[in-house]
Amino acid sequence: MAFCTGCSLLCDDIEVDFEGAKVKKTMNLCRKGRAHYDSLVVDRLAPAVDGTPATIDESVSKAGELLAGAEKPLLFGWGNSTLAAQQAGIRLAKKLGSVIDDPSSYSQGMITEKILKEELPSCTFDDVRNFADVSIFWGDDPSSSHPRHLSRFSYFPRGEKRQRGYEEDREAIVIDVRKSPTAQIAADGFFRIPPGGDAEFAEALMATLGGKIPKVEDKKRMLNLGTKLRKAKFGMIFTGLGLAHSMGGDLDAFFSLVGKLNEVSRFSVIPTLGDYNTRGFNQTLFDETGSVNSVSFGGGVHHGPEFGIAKYLDSCDAVMVVGADPIAVLPAPLAKKLAEIPMVAVNSHRTLTTDAALVTIPIGVAGLEAGGSGLRSDGVGVEFDAVVKSDYLPDVEVIERITEAV
Ligand code: SF4
Repeated sequence: MAFCTGCSLLCDDIEVDFEGAKVKKTMNLCRKGRAHYDSLVVDRLAPAVDGTPATIDESVSKAGELLAGAEKPLLFGWGNSTLAAQQAGIRLAKKLGSVIDDPSSYSQGMITEKILKEELPSCTFDDVRNFADVSIFWGDDPSSSHPRHLSRFSYFPRGEKRQRGYEEDREAIVIDVRKSPTAQIAADGFFRIPPGGDAEFAEALMATLGGKIPKVEDKKRMLNLGTKLRKAKFGMIFTGLGLAHSMGGDLDAFFSLVGKLNEVSRFSVIPTLGDYNTRGFNQTLFDETGSVNSVSFGGGVHHGPEFGIAKYLDSCDAVMVVGADPIAVLPAPLAKKLAEIPMVAVNSHRTLTTDAALVTIPIGVAGLEAGGSGLRSDGVGVEFDAVVKSDYLPDVEVIERITEAV
């Protein structure tokens, strides 16, 4: 069996036949996973320095020179890197005395950090499959982003205590600003909130659970929801970017609600993380520094929002982006700022970010062309082998060579 590193579910039941690097036949891949496998022969990155084709050695040497010569370098990305490459990245950040950060600093890092600090209850996807009876998807649309989430774990499967599956044993509730594909499955369990209305909804639900009349239009529906959540035997909340972005840096209302839910019932949280090894980076950095992102190794270990990419771009003078495409996702003014900073891009494929980089260094796709290990978004560790022959270097080797070149 092969793994899929197309998202943070890290599906481990993939069967695949190749003809060279081209996929001939597969079993169990979702459409996103299939596109991930098919991408092996599409738009691969080539080594280059200043737009001119170079050898890997020349690119690595230029990357080392650029980072060593910078006063305030930033090492960013890491969610699509193996655990070994993430550890090597932290060693490089220490050597440079630089800042290291990942996209969780502007998404779900606060939720993951609370889980790692054991201030927010969590569990594994296998617990979800076996025991969960009520699942809330909050600002989260796994039917689109993690297509096998509902079929492998959270809604459709039979489990140890959930033999009758979704027909009788499971209920899905979706809180979102639009009727997403996941919300369509939840049918009458869909609660539409206005953009930015998450904190208000959380507070209304808190009031309901506390026995008060909620200040919402449809009081009856909110009271029914409160009753349903109280009766849950093994409740889950899956959080998505919608929740994190709506509440910005202040998730207190959400955290208080989870606390309240655990006074009257039992609820755990698993964030639905995008890149396959986001949890791996957050946990590796947390084990080392006590923080999941936005860490500076300049003169000791410091942590704070000023070391998150959104703020640090104002002062940094060189960036290395590994396995990420921030120029495609950051707001335009930030993306523009990033594109103007001398940049090294390490990636398997061409992206908007690699196109803006001064130095590009290609790597093999982890789990397909290179072995390694990672953590699913529930924190369960997996180890994978390469399933197809490739001349691309594994990510860890490239990061180690850049470290030597610094
Ligand atoms: S759900 Fe994610 S890990 Fe599973 S096959 Fe689809 S893309 Fe790959």
